[in-house]
Amino acid sequence: MLQTSYRNLTCADARLDAVGQQATLAGWVNRRRDLGQLIFLDLRDRYGITQVVIDNADSAGAHAIAESVRSEYVVRVSGTVTKRLKGMENDRLETGQVELRATEIEILSTAQTPPFVINDPEAEVDESIRLKYRYLDLRRKPLQQRIVARGQLVKAIRDAHHTAGFIEIETPLLIKSTPEGARDFIVPSRLQPGSVYALPQSPQQMKQLLMVSGFDRYYQIARCLRDEDLRGDRQPEFTQLDLEMSFVNDGDVMAWVEEMALVVTRAVAPDRPILDEPFPRFTYREAIDRYGSDKPDVRYGMELHDLGELASASGFRVFENVLGEGGRVFGFAATGMGGATRKQIDELTELARKAGAGGLVWLALDGEGGIRGSIVKIVGEEMAHKLAAQAGAAAGDLVLIVADADITAQEVLGTLRVELADRNDAFDRSLLSYVWVHQFPMYHWNADNSRWDATHNPFSAVLPEDEALLTTLSGNPLVASHEDPAGRARAQQYDIALNGWELGGGSVRFHTREMLSKSFSLMGHSPEAQEAQFSGILEAFEYGAPPHGGIALGVDRWIALLTDQSNIREVMAFPKTSSGSDLMLDAPSPVAAEQLDELGLALKPRKPTTS
Ligand code: ASP
Repeated sequence: MLQTSYRNLTCADARLDAVGQQATLAGWVNRRRDLGQLIFLDLRDRYGITQVVIDNADSAGAHAIAESVRSEYVVRVSGTVTKRLKGMENDRLETGQVELRATEIEILSTAQTPPFVINDPEAEVDESIRLKYRYLDLRRKPLQQRIVARGQLVKAIRDAHHTAGFIEIETPLLIKSTPEGARDFIVPSRLQPGSVYALPQSPQQMKQLLMVSGFDRYYQIARCLRDEDLRGDRQPEFTQLDLEMSFVNDGDVMAWVEEMALVVTRAVAPDRPILDEPFPRFTYREAIDRYGSDKPDVRYGMELHDLGELASASGFRVFENVLGEGGRVFGFAATGMGGATRKQIDELTELARKAGAGGLVWLALDGEGGIRGSIVKIVGEEMAHKLAAQAGAAAGDLVLIVADADITAQEVLGTLRVELADRNDAFDRSLLSYVWVHQFPMYHWNADNSRWDATHNPFSAVLPEDEALLTTLSGNPLVASHEDPAGRARAQQYDIALNGWELGGGSVRFHTREMLSKSFSLMGHSPEAQEAQFSGILEAFEYGAPPHGGIALGVDRWIALLTDQSNIREVMAFPKTSSGSDLMLDAPSPVAAEQLDELGLALKPRKPTTS
């Protein structure tokens, strides 16, 4: 099947059953050993490696050419597949029982000495060099295998959707801004000077419009672009599995995603056990209160516990003050860390501060019923033991407690929980743990602009029983206050997390103009602003829109998790650095004056950086 006019076998095909066959192989020289009369070449393509031996006695011409060959040359060799001599087999190679005795060799391309070793998968190479010479890094086995796995993931996604009646539809890259909470990349229009297109942060509006068109089940492997600061799980352009379905509620979408995710996971990572089926579902509140995270990692325990009741009667002023102001006191037990040193605890306190807490309270249980800690003297040993027990601690555990605003207290502990589990290596890393988190608050208060912002997707609907909450105390949705009933409305939003990473999120949408417009007003969009920004979708909803909902899953994150990578750069063929540069193509780069003129643009010179 892989036969071409350059080869009849790949470098993985020469096996014992091919012995005696005439073969022509083409590939890169992985290694060359010159033993005088015999020259050995390990020939590599993406399928495998075959040892080629060129004997001066068989063909002096081929031997002379082989003498000039170097690593990474591209060559074509022809000869006979032969069984290796006894004792010369290489069990580490799938083709290690045979070699190709070549009588012809043709150099298809010469190569300079590469800037790093290509034939050693373990070789440590500086990442900026790997990125500059990405095409060479992609020759190396680990990255090559991940890119192949990524292709398998996308294929499995496509197969699953086609089987279930989804239609793959492409949507444009040059669009009008769709807010997803990040900055847009914009593209100036040459034909309409002074106007710009936005590159899509997601195909959100288009997929909803496809539902209005009656497409019913849409999906796309979609490119999304967001101009935001980069982290390990973020790049300025990334790929989503984007889908939308009509005549569904939140449960229907979640059921499909779950069914699909299982099929896809088994296709790509058949050896990785899936922790829970069906995927556990937590309300947002439950996830925050139990794990301090809206993307909980449940591969390990160390759950959070509400210590409020005990804390209110503890006699410790900090607890009482925080609770008096509507804050919360939570704690969890770090398994087996009761022997923590002062230094370790200082370090954890520093981490808690960085995560936003005012401080960290600790209690350490030894093996003999003793307890020490920052508040033992103040609250007494009995209360300290009670707090520790309530936090789920057993002998030998360390209890970490945070008193702070609701959500902040839990999230700080959530950060510590993840950090400690990771450091203590307290769980099976081969596990895949998918979980759902749903019923997020629809809005969060934007104090700077005195308005409600969408917590997730501005097109989301609220739970049917919360629709009556979409009001403000002033009676005017454009005049909002922190106490508005709208602040209590829960969205029909569902996020899917995998091993503590947010893998995707989606929602059931408002599908009437009236409700969507009401929600936009609460987000501070005047009728004029709505007309300017969202007239397309608002108008479309006047022409018969079906109830619909959808979701998007990050393809880069998904394959990173399935291949055990902590940075999505490791699963992208051509990623950017954390400052958004493509080191291979040297982008972004200055642009010619004529090109700017044509667009009617003038770029401001870069502000000098003060440091
Ligand atoms: N458009 C959303 C996103 O890109 C996903 C969705 O709600 O379908 O995150």
